[in-house]
Amino acid sequence: MKIDGMATEETKAARIEDRQRQAGPKGPLPLGSFGAGPGDGAERVISGLGVAPGIAIGLAHLVESGSIHVPEYRIEADAVEAERLRFAEALAAAQQQIRKVKAKATTLPGAAAEEIGFLLDAHLQMLTGSRVVRGVERRIVEERINAEAAVQAEIAQVAQDFTALGDAYLAARAEDVREVGSRLIRNLTQTPYQAFSRLPEGSIIIAEELTPADTALMDPRRIGGFATVLGGAESHTAIMARSLGLPAVLGVAGLIGAVKTGDMVIVDGTMGRIVIHPTPETLADYRRRQEEIARVERQLAQIKGLPAVTRDGTSVTLQANLELPRELEMALAAGAEGIGLLRTEFLYMNREDLPEEEEQYEVFRQLVEGLDGRPITIRTLDIGGDKLALSLGVHAAVGSNPALGLRAIRLSLKERSLLETQLAAILRAGAHGPVRILLPMISSVGEVRQVREILKAVARRLVKEGKRIADPLPALGVMIEVPGAALAADAIAPAADFFAIGTNDLTMYTLAIDRGEEQVAHLYNPLHPAVLRLLQFTTEAGLRARIPVSVCGEIAGDPRYTPLLLGLGIRELSMAATALPRVKQRIRSLDSQAAARCARVIMDQSDSGRIAALLDDFNTLA
Ligand code: PEP
Ligand code: MG
Repeated sequence: MKIDGMATEETKAARIEDRQRQAGPKGPLPLGSFGAGPGDGAERVISGLGVAPGIAIGLAHLVESGSIHVPEYRIEADAVEAERLRFAEALAAAQQQIRKVKAKATTLPGAAAEEIGFLLDAHLQMLTGSRVVRGVERRIVEERINAEAAVQAEIAQVAQDFTALGDAYLAARAEDVREVGSRLIRNLTQTPYQAFSRLPEGSIIIAEELTPADTALMDPRRIGGFATVLGGAESHTAIMARSLGLPAVLGVAGLIGAVKTGDMVIVDGTMGRIVIHPTPETLADYRRRQEEIARVERQLAQIKGLPAVTRDGTSVTLQANLELPRELEMALAAGAEGIGLLRTEFLYMNREDLPEEEEQYEVFRQLVEGLDGRPITIRTLDIGGDKLALSLGVHAAVGSNPALGLRAIRLSLKERSLLETQLAAILRAGAHGPVRILLPMISSVGEVRQVREILKAVARRLVKEGKRIADPLPALGVMIEVPGAALAADAIAPAADFFAIGTNDLTMYTLAIDRGEEQVAHLYNPLHPAVLRLLQFTTEAGLRARIPVSVCGEIAGDPRYTPLLLGLGIRELSMAATALPRVKQRIRSLDSQAAARCARVIMDQSDSGRIAALLDDFNTLA
């Protein structure tokens, strides 16, 4: 069933009109003018974090709540407490989301900040001990219905009561109530905003926030790019954008109030800018830049078939990270020598059931066959943190501190069947070509040993069932992305067949900086000496144990870091397919001895600013 009246285009427009009529000339600003600055139609530039390079020019599509599928069912008496808890979690998440948007809004010009703050405060009030909250709890307990249905029923009742009073101002408040209800239901169902498949070609998505699951629904042939108010540069939404080659700017304060659906917008993912209502001169300038980018890409494509070898003959293996199977074609076109990291979270996103062994096997087999003899490294489920999946329901419950909670390998080892299903599918796909298995978020050697035992048991079962599997068993590797694992890399190496260093999480956990949080994005720095020391220690421990060591975090795809990584002894890099040609070009221009000398000087430094300057100097000169 659908929840109705949730801020559709018409109701939103009516609401803005209502507000304008109600507020009069001296009243609060209409919704549509938050942060709008100069008059409607004038060119306006807003800055944010440029997380995926490139330029997109197109018509904006403002993501609204839209209609949401609301599951409705009765619950048993003994499930009431769990349902109340689920509602409490959705409530807490909604409060946190609104506070984040509010914190962002404080950077808007005076009146706009005040007005949006006023509106968001009203939303927050509705989420704390209000009639709505009490009503939903009462319905869960007394009517024994699920939280989503309770929210829907309560919101409908409150909104109806408001409307019945015949007061235009209160009728407008009914819309706010619906908006809050929509947010709660979204949190409860973990519904992505919407499929973007019906939008006009080249649309630019504008949203408060987009999850990795939302982004996974974007087809780069239809969507030009996107911009959001929330989100950090290393969030999975940002990674997904880079993977898909979609220009994107995140963390843009004032975005929602400044853009309307249908407005002409430019997303400059390279500079981190959004231009709204560009003048003809600006448009012409950006179109020239687009052409220039396309020209450079064509040039880079020419080195596709050339080897990734330094000037002094050091070979580097360049592979691609895959977020979605459909990126394989792009990876091969970019010259990837294999898939160094297949993130399998996509299998669990945007669905309510779990993927069975057969389904996963089919997906993996097709990739293996598509790779035609090139290797693929399949990582087991890394759900948790900012990557949540509806299909895992309570298993992926957010918890008080999701980044440190039941995520990745911890979830797989707790819910054994999740792990066994994936291992079985990977083992079977391994019968069709070279496959490796990679374990996320390992923090101790015991976890690796446990998985190896499970892997052997699953292999025995499959053989008994007469199924063809990889022979010999695939290599079992470890993501080094927890500082404790990096410091114990020498102890973990004997139990692992290879290391893949995940610098995204390693940086986050080492510096205690949320990679998806735009407010601390300026502090997130893989060049911090602590991160580099862990990287160096892990690489040396792996190489001493004679196991392959790769880097598959985002720094692998940034040519600025290439000399440092090579200088530290890394010879395998895995990155977004779109980043491959530039990194290869950088490798081909480098001298590995000079890179090693540069790395030695850098590792003697204690200040990340000095490290960045040294690296920049090296990149300019060598
Ligand atoms: C990492 O943490 O660096 C990594 C490659 O994994 P993910 O970005 O999927 O967490
Ligand atoms: Mg990680």
